[in-house]
Amino acid sequence: MAKIQMQTPIVEMDGDEMTRILWKMIKDHLLLPFLDLNTKYYDLGLEYRNETNDQVTIDSAEATKKYKVAVKCATITPNAARMKEYDLKEMWKSPNGTIRAILDGTVFRAPIVVKGMEPCVKNWKKPITIARHAYGDVYKGTEMKIPGRGKAELVYTAEDGSEARELIHTFDSPGIIQGMHNLNGSIASFARSCFHYALDTKQDLWFATKDTISKKYDHTFKDIFQEIFDAEFKDQFEQAGITYFYTLIDDAVARVMKSEGGYIWACKNYDGDVMSDMISSAFGSLAMMTSVLVSPDGYYEYEAAHGTVQRHYYKHLKGEETSTNSVATIFAWSGALRKRGELDGNKGLQDFADRLEQATIDTIEAGEMTKDLALITTIPDPVVLNSEDFIKAIAKRLTE
Ligand code: NAP
Ligand code: MG
Repeated sequence: MAKIQMQTPIVEMDGDEMTRILWKMIKDHLLLPFLDLNTKYYDLGLEYRNETNDQVTIDSAEATKKYKVAVKCATITPNAARMKEYDLKEMWKSPNGTIRAILDGTVFRAPIVVKGMEPCVKNWKKPITIARHAYGDVYKGTEMKIPGRGKAELVYTAEDGSEARELIHTFDSPGIIQGMHNLNGSIASFARSCFHYALDTKQDLWFATKDTISKKYDHTFKDIFQEIFDAEFKDQFEQAGITYFYTLIDDAVARVMKSEGGYIWACKNYDGDVMSDMISSAFGSLAMMTSVLVSPDGYYEYEAAHGTVQRHYYKHLKGEETSTNSVATIFAWSGALRKRGELDGNKGLQDFADRLEQATIDTIEAGEMTKDLALITTIPDPVVLNSEDFIKAIAKRLTE
């Protein structure tokens, strides 16, 4: 069988630990036998990030602007323990944070729905897609430990030198402070991505903040969404028969639990980080969550929502067998390949992406799955496969 050609490359961002192992298996068994895979490779593994002073992360984001489509493996965000483990020069920032800051996009995450994996919230009948604002707030924050007595203020110095000040707190004992920001432009492009994606997928859009407490910061998010909706999207939403719904974040959380699903829930950066993990675990497994960063300029970066699965990696290093779920990473590849196919008018590539996803779903629905899924499936007598055999079982279906 002739291999499918790719005229234009996609940006390939390799990563860390168990997902780096899965990455290679996916390429070897599911991609290279079928495709003339055309990628620009960037090694975002922690060792190479450290070696390049994290320049490789910036380069990979810039390349994404050039080629428009990227696929990323999960990566370690260093903490104190990782500093020692990898003998790091610096506590490098989260690569996802760096890439998102450069592309200024919105992350859409939706569960991969498979028969035999029932959500643990029994009234959830349809997927809930989380749209996470991917810029600013605590992810671009500056923090300070306050050693003792003194005054902490917010100071804005305008270009003409004039100052505006707000007291944060007058300390009479040690404490902590945090400064963070967002940009009206970024909030506006977040809002537009969400409204467009709601129209594309014909789903209602929910948005929530804590505007009653955060009367300037969060309220600005609420106001910008409403202004853009009224000015640009109201009529289109009416025609499509979908709604835009704003409420307080705690009210939204309560309503989500009682809903049927089937809508997009737009979240501020931190809410989206937290809620997407809750939604994905409730729908089955963290490993069954797709994730795509969509920039307002039309750049797409696909990845799995989960991390590097460190615990499994240490087992792997000890020579023990692992049963790590590669579905979200496979769907990151299929998402990127399909988008490349759409942008290039490459029908063969789009069809291959569909076949890869279908083969993955068919494998699970036939009862062959990794351990995390076997523990939660309603399919009787599932066959638990190890990491590599699961990928090989998909490959077998792809060749049939
Ligand atoms: P994690 O890698 O998502 O894993 C947490 C636990 O969830 C695992 O121990 C495993 O549970 C289960 N799990 C997650 N993905 C799985 C999969 N594909 N198959 C089977 N089980 C899966 O989160 P973490 O352990 O908190 O973080 C590890 C590293 O990942 C950290 O260094 C963090 O910085 C990084 N991280 C990266 C990204 C990213 O690049 N997008 C996102 C999050 C975290 P059991 O152990 O019970 O089997
Ligand atoms: Mg998270």
